[in-house]
Amino acid sequence: KAKADGRNHYQFYSQEMTQKALERVALESSLRAAIQKKEFEVFYQPQMQIINGVARLSGLEALVRWRHPQLGLLSPAQFIPLAEETGLIIPLDRLVMEQAISQVAQWDTAGLDWGVLSLNVAPHQLEREDFSVVLASQLKQYGVAAERIMLEVTESQIMQNPDKAIAMLKQLRALGFGIAIDDFGTGYSSLSYLKKLPLNKLKIDQSFVRDLPEDEDDTAITRAVIALGKSLGLSLIAEGVETAEQQHFILQNGCDTIQGFFYSRPLPAAEMSVLLSAKA
Ligand code: C2E
Ligand code: MG
Ligand code: MG
Ligand code: MG
Repeated sequence: KAKADGRNHYQFYSQEMTQKALERVALESSLRAAIQKKEFEVFYQPQMQIINGVARLSGLEALVRWRHPQLGLLSPAQFIPLAEETGLIIPLDRLVMEQAISQVAQWDTAGLDWGVLSLNVAPHQLEREDFSVVLASQLKQYGVAAERIMLEVTESQIMQNPDKAIAMLKQLRALGFGIAIDDFGTGYSSLSYLKKLPLNKLKIDQSFVRDLPEDEDDTAITRAVIALGKSLGLSLIAEGVETAEQQHFILQNGCDTIQGFFYSRPLPAAEMSVLLSAKA
């Protein structure tokens, strides 16, 4: 009896695992097909600089979505992890970059000022020698200067192979790209490496912003990150700003640029065009 139960249990478990594996395989192949069919759509979220109470657009972050024919609009959390595991993130990010760069070039043609375009760099992408080559050739094709692109990398990405990352980032800086650390404060940061990195900007992670200004730890961390960024001569941006109170705290403490639902959610290109036209 015990043995039979055990076997049933084993069979049940095995079936469940098979099911999971099949779902994964199905998702992986549909992700692969979606890249071929270019079912991905880049959304754009404004980054606002506030000086003397006047907000102006300083740039846009490109954020990918998957327009799935059956499931609708999927957010990065639903497919980026699998794309990273399978290496499909490389062709996927090429699509994102191409779509975003051709879009900003169209805005240029229309006389709309989009500022600086931020692109998220996937893990391992930094280690690829061809990354800067592909990006530079896409920019050349559309006539967009590297100086108008900010690359967002994470601390953990850099710390995986710091010497190699530093070399790559220096190369990208030499080509004109800006470099920002995304989700700053959530990774394994080494302050001694931070000093050696060729950075332009720190993005204060939204987990510190969420409970401002009430949470004492978060107020202390946010102030410390701002002081650190300033002492290293970096620009700062706070992400995940949803309320006037959060914005007030951030501005009061010396960071003048914010990104978050308080100003705008990430928008499809057509809606972003309307917003840019209204500002022009
Ligand atoms: P991230 O680069 O840190 O992007 C910021 C995320 O915060 C975005 O989520 C954005 O929609 C969200 N966000 C912005 N303002 C607010 C706010 O006020 N409140 C809240 N609750 N959230 C806010 P999203 O678009 O779901 O992207 C999640 C992550 O997926 C990104 O985090 C980035 O790491 C990754 N990702 C997105 N697009 C791409 C891409 O094209 N390529 C790569 N490699 N990664 C991407
Ligand atoms: Mg980002
Ligand atoms: Mg972030
Ligand atoms: Mg992130």
